[in-house]
Amino acid sequence: MSLSVFDIFKVGIGPSSSHTMGPMRAAREFVAGLKRDGLLAATSQIAVRLYGSLALTGIGHGTDRAVLAGLEGAVPETVDPDSIEPLIRRVRSEGRIKLLGEHEIPFDEPMQLLFMRHETLPRHSNGMRFTALGANSSVLREDDYYSIGGGFIVHGDETEASGVRAAHVEPPYPFTSGAELLAKCRENGLELYELMLANERTWRSEEEVRAGLLNIWKVMQQCVERGFRQTGHLPGVLKVKRRAPKMYRVLTEGKGSSALEVMDWVNAFALAVNEENAAGGRVVTAPTNGAAGIVPAVMHFYARFEPGANEAGIMRFLLCAAAMGMLYKRNASISGAEMGCMGEVGVACSMAAAGLVAALNGTNEQIENAAEIGMEHNLGLTCDPVAGLVQIPCIERNAMGSVKAINAARLAMRGDGTHKVSLDQVIATMRQTGLDMQTIYKETSQGGLAVNVPEC
Ligand code: SF4
Repeated sequence: MSLSVFDIFKVGIGPSSSHTMGPMRAAREFVAGLKRDGLLAATSQIAVRLYGSLALTGIGHGTDRAVLAGLEGAVPETVDPDSIEPLIRRVRSEGRIKLLGEHEIPFDEPMQLLFMRHETLPRHSNGMRFTALGANSSVLREDDYYSIGGGFIVHGDETEASGVRAAHVEPPYPFTSGAELLAKCRENGLELYELMLANERTWRSEEEVRAGLLNIWKVMQQCVERGFRQTGHLPGVLKVKRRAPKMYRVLTEGKGSSALEVMDWVNAFALAVNEENAAGGRVVTAPTNGAAGIVPAVMHFYARFEPGANEAGIMRFLLCAAAMGMLYKRNASISGAEMGCMGEVGVACSMAAAGLVAALNGTNEQIENAAEIGMEHNLGLTCDPVAGLVQIPCIERNAMGSVKAINAARLAMRGDGTHKVSLDQVIATMRQTGLDMQTIYKETSQGGLAVNVPEC
């Protein structure tokens, strides 16, 4: 089943698409299901169990807070990030929760929101089990959900395809591999962005696609602007100081240095987004929250430094970057819990490289080449967030991924699109490497920097 560009780029909140947005969505879906089936009023208790990676890094990634907000009816796309803290404080101080904002019941968080650190559910490392109890503690309903990366969830034993927010009418040019995508473009005389646009028109008008993409860009710009304005430290035990505001001040006051000032700007754009993400702010999942800074940073680079940059280029960027994200999602994974950081920063780097080439009117073959380079040099990248927070190495890693994406685009633009390693081969390599990678390097904070850097 084909995905839409708006499945890949989603407006949400930080700090994590798999550990915050997915659990919030699952919690809401569970209670919405109770209401739909007439069970909400009979529910007198609710219990939530988090398994695997969600249990191990859930506190640092805000999973507990996301679940509480989701049970109260919040959805990542529309919830006001500033409303979450008061909601959590109320639930914790009163020991009561308002399911879907309408049915209030007692809620003893330490007893009813459990982190099953030594257990995993069978289908994925990010498992959740929701139980609704009625009179005499009888089980009204018990459901498992999985947060499979990028804010996507699947329910119980649904197949992944039926669980994603997939468009149900097939588009004119479905594709499952990079080779097929290029071939369909060739056979139909289409630029890659034109093929993507034709597919999107299956589900919404061209005007709606345009408005939706420009809204994604607007939210990315607002995120960078907010990240430049905020000061102080990020939440959590690491007491990480925000760096983007100072970098922005230095750059705008003309105190930036040398020919590499452009790189300073790219770094500042990426840090601004990921600091906002770490603070639980509004971000665009691209394709995940942990890696949400790379696509916007490279788009800001394009808009600020490329002569002739315009809205049409922004649209080409997003459409082609999304095409690459779809290939990774279909043929490997965009979940740090499955692929390590290759699945997040690696994928975002690859998407941004492809998007930049498209914005600069590169050929379809150069776009595919840029995406391939963007991933090839992220193969093996582990996920080892210190203290389970999406801060170290995540924030800085987005700056590194952004610079790498721009270089991948430049390398591809200097060539004619022919190259030895295909995008499909590198995606297959990524998937195999992810499967071979030890669990301690897959969003569990049990290896790597997470065990070598003291938490305070
Ligand atoms: S290390 Fe990478 S994959 Fe892991 S939480 Fe940070 S950004 Fe996400």
